[in-house]
Amino acid sequence: MSHGVHPDRPATAPRDPAPTAAGVLAGLDDDQRAAVVAPAGPLCILAGAGTGKTRAITHRIAHRVLTGEVRPQHVLAVTFTARAAGEMRDRLRGLGAGGVQARTFHAAAMRQLRFFAPRLLGGRELPEVLTSKARLINQAAAAARVRAESTLRRDLATEIEWAKASLVEPDEYPAAAARAGRDTPVAPESMVRVYQAYEQVKQAAGVIDFEDLLRFTVWAVEEHPDVADQVRAQYRHFVVDEYQDVNPVQQRLLAAWLGGRDDLTVVGDASQTIYSFTGASADHLIGFPRRYPGATVVRLTRDYRSTPQVVALANQVIGQARGAQARLRLELTGQRAPGPAPTIRSFPDEAAEAAAVAARCAELVAAGTPSSEIAVLFRTNAQSAAYEEALTDARVPYQVQGSARFFDRPEVRQAMVALRAATRAVEPGTPLRVAVTDALAATGWAADSPPPGGAGRERWEALAALVRLAADFRPAPGEDGAEPTAADALAGFHAELTRRAAAQHAPAVAGVTLASLHSAKGLEWDVVFLVGLVEGTLPVGFARTDEQIEEERRLLYVGITRAREQLWLSWPQARSDGGRPRRPSRFLPASAATATPATGPARAERSSGPRRRRGTLVLCRICGATLSEATDRKLGRCGDCPSDLDEELYERLVSWRAEVASQQRIPAYVVFTDATLAALAELRPDAAETLVQIPGIGARKLGLYGKAVLALIDGAEADQAVSMV
Ligand code: ATP
Ligand code: MG
Repeated sequence: MSHGVHPDRPATAPRDPAPTAAGVLAGLDDDQRAAVVAPAGPLCILAGAGTGKTRAITHRIAHRVLTGEVRPQHVLAVTFTARAAGEMRDRLRGLGAGGVQARTFHAAAMRQLRFFAPRLLGGRELPEVLTSKARLINQAAAAARVRAESTLRRDLATEIEWAKASLVEPDEYPAAAARAGRDTPVAPESMVRVYQAYEQVKQAAGVIDFEDLLRFTVWAVEEHPDVADQVRAQYRHFVVDEYQDVNPVQQRLLAAWLGGRDDLTVVGDASQTIYSFTGASADHLIGFPRRYPGATVVRLTRDYRSTPQVVALANQVIGQARGAQARLRLELTGQRAPGPAPTIRSFPDEAAEAAAVAARCAELVAAGTPSSEIAVLFRTNAQSAAYEEALTDARVPYQVQGSARFFDRPEVRQAMVALRAATRAVEPGTPLRVAVTDALAATGWAADSPPPGGAGRERWEALAALVRLAADFRPAPGEDGAEPTAADALAGFHAELTRRAAAQHAPAVAGVTLASLHSAKGLEWDVVFLVGLVEGTLPVGFARTDEQIEEERRLLYVGITRAREQLWLSWPQARSDGGRPRRPSRFLPASAATATPATGPARAERSSGPRRRRGTLVLCRICGATLSEATDRKLGRCGDCPSDLDEELYERLVSWRAEVASQQRIPAYVVFTDATLAALAELRPDAAETLVQIPGIGARKLGLYGKAVLALIDGAEADQAVSMV
């Protein structure tokens, strides 16, 4: 994905001299080294952000492999996102420990279940895994006679996910929810009925969900001695990164894999616990030394990632934390040379804020900062749209993290087909990079003509990433160690891509990263923009209890600690021009409230005076407030009230848009912006008259796309609707 070369990840590893155990110990401080050489057995690294936890565990694995203490195929390293797992594999390969499995819990579970499914299911394959629960939740709510609007449907899904991740069965739900202090979306008895009905409709549909993957793997190992023997013979040494965010089902799976053995390393930072709402708890991390009385415990406090200026702000923000996690807080000490003070700014509205961020990105890129070293991080995915548009206008390439998975992108799939075809036609002697460039040219890609910005640029960058990967790829030698032929090299490269696609290991794509704070954990960039820092967004409006507020504070801490050198924090004084005033996030230093309102072009463009619409009273369908802003009135809710988007419909709209944009060779946002698609998936208009009330749909768009959009809302599949354009 998009963030740049990591100091731990030597890009030229294959050409460097072979890594040695002594080399792996160099470049570590004494505390990190103590963790790396700790004896086999339980080890717990408790440390703050940027102190080298991930570095210490990758070096520990490599050190054990290179000294011959462990065999790489016996190690299972688990992290929380596919991107972090991909980075860990890269770091390990660079350190001479390729062959170690580094996966997310889900990916590791999926692999094991796929392998054992025929044995466990009487010859059948693993059922398909649901990508969205929306449809089944609908059916379950109907069967349970719970009248569910779409916000409620989303809350029902979250609640079922929490219960399943917490190992709570339907009939245990009321007691467990009360114990955990859950704010139940419907009466606990109704929740029991919905949960039961959901499990029934899921079974009838012959599919499983994400949580089932982990639960079934637990069952497979706990209840089947032959499976347990085989899994435990395969994996003997376990490492878990970001352990503060482990949930009960993951913890149970880990225990099943271990089967009473104790060669386990866990690393984490209680101050970065950000998944409590899904059932995760830092108690597993905090209680580790108690559960394993002989455990080696290592604490790290030197922050190698960020400048002292960034570290000081991080300490200040987390210094205000209250509650259990706060007691374990570790004050960080910055190790790097001083850098610029963090910038805190406020803008008249969101559009002005986004324009200023995009302008600053363009300046940085022009001055030589690679765009992949810049990230814009926000609390909710809906905030992304404004930045996509602003960066497009400023002609800065960007990548939306987690939007389409790299290998699922249509242009990448097309490129894979072209590459396979090219293996049969390639001229002998053609260097791999040239062969790949030629094959991609057949799909319309041209190395020297990147489109200026927007979705076209995003597509171009994805293919450019494949070419870069080809340049770094070392094909296996031919028979007798001879140079591989051009056809073999291309076939080898295609096989490497197929392997990466199966592991969802995307190559680094150039462009500013747009990502949610949740998905940024563990990652780092030279320059980080934290945007939209107002009350109602951070903390998010639905955070009510003290614990929920503390989790929001930790999210800001995670965001701040992603920055190596430059950090920008900003907040809009209103959502849109003339909208109701917003207050800066309570987590910002007090000086932020008086941060200089930005002047300059962005401000000069504002129209004069508020544009409040009078007339009929429109109320927010979520909180009941009177809506005065035009866009809020169109949306039927306050901009900062939680969205009640039908995710399943939204996904179909997005795939339809991608297809239409690619057929018409226009950027996707020209078809419809993300904001318009979100409004469609929230309001689900069922006639042309209601369709035109959605922001972004006028008479022209209605003529072009109206029929297709109405069909999609009515349930049509994306490809069916493409033919209606
Ligand atoms: P997070 O809590 O955000 O996951 P972390 O504790 O896992 O952070 P790492 O990502 O391992 O931290 O390291 C942060 C940065 O500091 C990386 O760029 C890493 O290469 C660098 N670093 C860590 N230790 C050292 C060291 N001893 N010398 C130089 N650089 C280091
Ligand atoms: Mg880390």
